[in-house]
Amino acid sequence: MNHLTDTQLQSLADGTLRGPEGMAAREHCDGCAECGSTVALYSALDARLSALRDPQLPADFTGTVLAAVQVREAHLAARRHTLLAAIPAFALAVFAIVGWGLSTQVDKLIQGVAVLRVVWGVVGPVFAATRVPLGIGAFVFLAVVLTLLSRTLKPAYARLSES
Ligand SMILES: [Zn+2]
Repeated sequence: MNHLTDTQLQSLADGTLRGPEGMAAREHCDGCAECGSTVALYSALDARLSALRDPQLPADFTGTVLAAVQVREAHLAARRHTLLAAIPAFALAVFAIVGWGLSTQVDKLIQGVAVLRVVWGVVGPVFAATRVPLGIGAFVFLAVVLTLLSRTLKPAYARLSES
């Protein structure tokens, strides 16, 4: 009888070769030193592999991963908050600049509107007195807000271009 194939030897060793074919293979190995020793080798290997266990995770594995996730979440939340806080500031700065621009034209705009003329008569000198500092302040404020916005958005764009 021919020697057993490697597949037959491995199947015999791990117990998946059964029935008449398994019986014949077992009989052959009993009378054949070469196939018998190979089956013994495979059997020993199978036993060693079965004894292996999944490696133990470090005790603090879950905690470390969760902490890393939380740090990232906090970082993203801080960036979102900066952006959200900058939006009303940006709107306020635009409003102030538009208001400053309109206040230079307001004398023409309110001609013929008696109530507004009275109101303007009261607050007009106040606006007139604060017009230049208000305008300068609004421009400086807008510059600061735009700088903050560009710093906040830059990392997001950088990440997008990387991926
Ligand atoms: Zn043999």
